[in-house]
Amino acid sequence: MSVMQAINPATGEVIATYQQHTAGEVGRKIDTAGRAFAGWSATGIDERAALLPRLATVLEAGKERYARLMTAEMGKPIREARAEIEKCAWACRYYAEHGPAYLADDIVQTEAHKAFVAFRPLGVVLAVMPWNFPFWQVLRFAIPSLLAGNAALLKHASNVPGSALALEEALREAGLPDGVFQTLLIPSGMVEGVIRHDAVRAVTLTGSNAAGRAIAATAGACLKKSVLELGGSDPFVVLEDADLDKAAEAGAASRLFNTGQACIAAKRFIVVDAVAKKFEDKLAERLLARKMGDPMDETVALGALARADLRDELHGQVERSLKDGARNILGGVIPNEPGAFYPATILNGVEKGMPAFDEELFGPVASIIRAANEDQALKIANDTPYGLGAAVFTGDRKRGERIARDRFDAGVCFVNDFVKSDPRLPFGGVKESGYGRELGIFGIREFTNIKTVVVA
Ligand code: NAP
Repeated sequence: MSVMQAINPATGEVIATYQQHTAGEVGRKIDTAGRAFAGWSATGIDERAALLPRLATVLEAGKERYARLMTAEMGKPIREARAEIEKCAWACRYYAEHGPAYLADDIVQTEAHKAFVAFRPLGVVLAVMPWNFPFWQVLRFAIPSLLAGNAALLKHASNVPGSALALEEALREAGLPDGVFQTLLIPSGMVEGVIRHDAVRAVTLTGSNAAGRAIAATAGACLKKSVLELGGSDPFVVLEDADLDKAAEAGAASRLFNTGQACIAAKRFIVVDAVAKKFEDKLAERLLARKMGDPMDETVALGALARADLRDELHGQVERSLKDGARNILGGVIPNEPGAFYPATILNGVEKGMPAFDEELFGPVASIIRAANEDQALKIANDTPYGLGAAVFTGDRKRGERIARDRFDAGVCFVNDFVKSDPRLPFGGVKESGYGRELGIFGIREFTNIKTVVVA
């Protein structure tokens, strides 16, 4: 029987070993999900919504345990892990309060006696999820989708099996009926078979572009609905009238949050010439001020990367960018100590054609690109295959709003703040960052049959 190991990336130690589910077990779990869906979808939305505050309470009661589990499995700073659990609890309460209205029948005036749109659940949805926010990524899909009446199967990233099982347990403790949410401990090679199963109606992936292509191809071949939340190389534009201290503070927070492993982290800092040197100095000062080390240490802001191979891949991207002409003004050296650590790094003089511009750098590496003016900065910002988030810093809010609304080719755009996800707002990308939305009114309706009903 194959096993899955959870390895602490800060120490290299094996935390726990789990048996993978066999093909037979997976088949039985899919059948169970199909049966559970029949009962769950027949309940009223108020009954389903009542589960969510209970889930919030379970998460809050187990906050320390869940936070320590995530930190041990993937290296995020413990303070950020606790904040992740708090955000999940917030989302539970938000959807308990607002979700039913998002899913209420929508009456449309026609010449018929009555016409309306109903948002009915689709069925069993497979969620393929990444390790970077082990609880939040799963629950931002699951809370709205379960509320809509769907059943869910979770295939979590292979390095966070403990978190995957803890999520299933938390939902059960909150009172979710058996089989409505189940974890599959399977490698990525078994995902295709699950998507192809007749009882599975849709799939959502949060992950890399390579995984997105594979999953979309299978879903397309079976004509099943898919939602893809993929990578990004988000621009962070600093204009000449920006408050540079505020921009540098936000830039450092965005680039180092989750040890640089966030899809919406600021990755390419595009700064107009007039303020470039000043901004670089301020950013470097703030990156240097953040302590790297044991992620369980309360004072640490930069933990370990999630896996040693991912750290080595990041370093390779930095080295190739330097070979192509980028300059290293901070960090860039693998520490001589155990654990998958990588220091806060700044690459200057980054240009198109270098990995630091063309690829997603999933770690604490800021790429700085200079631009002559606003127009050139925005051309550079959009000159990427990705289109997830984008931020602009300017002293003129109207100018910022115009840029965010009309010029950025991205799904989530912020003015004078760094890009964050928020349970109240839709989240997702364009271009190779994926399609479909999570959260908000658009997210909750993704896995519904938007059903037209006409009564003559
Ligand atoms: P990943 O390697 O694509 O893994 C994500 C999930 O997909 C894991 O469960 C993985 O399983 C599975 N997977 C990988 N290849 C697959 C394939 N060919 N077929 C089916 N499943 C497959 O990504 P990651 O390294 O965990 O996460 C980092 C990426 O996620 C970054 O690109 C980041 O930007 C992106 N991300 C996007 C968002 C967003 O909302 N847009 C949010 C967070 C992260 P195994 O672990 O078993 O390989």
